[in-house]
Amino acid sequence: MEDSPRLHNFCAGPGALPLEVVRQVRHELPVYKNAGASVMEISHRSDHYTALEESSRAALRRLLGMGSEWHILFLGCGASMQFHQVPLNFLVPGGTADYVVTGIWAKKAHTEAARLGAAHVVASSEGASFTYIPTGWEDQVTGSYVHYTSNNTVCGTQYIETPGVKVPLVCDASSDFLSRPIDLDSHGLIYAGAQKNIGPAGVTVVLVRDDFLGMRNQPLPSMMDYGVHAAKLFNTPPVFAVYVVEKVLRWLEGRGGLEAIRQQNTEKAALLYGRIDATGFYRGTARKADRSMMNVTFRLPTPELEKRFVGEAEQHGLLALKGHRSVGGIRASIYNACPKGSVLELIEFMNYFEAKNG
Ligand code: PMP
Repeated sequence: MEDSPRLHNFCAGPGALPLEVVRQVRHELPVYKNAGASVMEISHRSDHYTALEESSRAALRRLLGMGSEWHILFLGCGASMQFHQVPLNFLVPGGTADYVVTGIWAKKAHTEAARLGAAHVVASSEGASFTYIPTGWEDQVTGSYVHYTSNNTVCGTQYIETPGVKVPLVCDASSDFLSRPIDLDSHGLIYAGAQKNIGPAGVTVVLVRDDFLGMRNQPLPSMMDYGVHAAKLFNTPPVFAVYVVEKVLRWLEGRGGLEAIRQQNTEKAALLYGRIDATGFYRGTARKADRSMMNVTFRLPTPELEKRFVGEAEQHGLLALKGHRSVGGIRASIYNACPKGSVLELIEFMNYFEAKNG
C-alpha cells in the first residue's frame, strides 16, 4: 500500500531520509530479522542489537577511513548536550579553550562552555550577522582545544577548509556530518546529531580519539564521562535511531562513499546557488566563499513575497523552505538524502515565482 505522496523535503532537521531506507524500515518494522519482535522491542544487550552497533561502527570506519584509535559513541540527548559535555570533559581546571563563534549553535556551545570555565571567543562573525566564516585567528589560539561548527545550519555558512591549528579541534558537525570526507588527524573529537544527514532524531554520534580522551577531567558523573561510554555499553542507547543510522551508513556506502557524496552535494549546491545568482530577484545571504552546501539561505525583495514563496512552494510539493525563525528569509536544506531531482524542482518553482512576481 502506498501512502499519500512524499513531497520534496527541504527541512533543516529532522531532515529527509533516503527513501530506500524508509522503505526498508517499513518492511522490517513488525519483526526484525529472526528476532521475533521489532527492533524497538528487543534488548539493547541482545545479539541482534550488538551486531547492529558493530555494523554501524564498521561502516563509519570504512566511510571515514578511521582507525582503532578512534572511539565511536552513540549517545542520547541531542547535540546540545555536547555543548556541555565537551567542556565538562576537556576544559580542565585552570586551563582554557577557544571557541569560534560562527552562528547561533556555535554561540550556544560557547555559552555552555563559559558556564564551566575559561572559554574564550577566539573569533566571531556575530557582528556581521554570522554571514561569513572568520579566518586569520589561528595564531591566537591559547587553549587546549578549539571548538568550531563545521556547518552553520541557520545562516548557511560552512568551512571549506579545516582550520589549521596546533591543538586538537573539537567539531560540531551536526549539519554536515558525512556530507564530505573529514580530515580526522586535526581533530580530537567530532560530534553530530543524527537528524540532518545520517538518521532520525534521538542519537548523537561522537567520535573521540584515544589520546584526546586521555586528557579529560576526572572524576566525572558517569553518564557525562566519554571514557565510560567508550569502555562499555553503559546504559540503554537510542536503539531505534541507531538502527536507522546503520541503514543510512550502508546507503552512503552504496552511493560510492564520501568523495562521491561530496561531488553530488557540490553539484546540487552549485545548481541552486547558480539560480539564486542568475538574477537580482533572489539574494544569497552568506558570503559567496563561505556558502554552505547543506543549508542554502536567501532572501526575496520583501518579507511579504517570502511568505508567499514559502506558501506557494508548499502547494507545489516543496516542503519546509521557511528560514529559521531568528533570521527569516528562505532556507533550502539539501542534505545527503535530498535528491538532485528535488533541487531541480525547486529551481523550476523559483523560475515560475520570479516570472510571476519579479
Ligand atoms: N548544532 C548544530 C549545528 C545544529 O544545527 C543543531 C540543531 N539544529 C544543534 C547543534 C542542536 O542539536 P539538537 O537539537 O540535537 O540538540
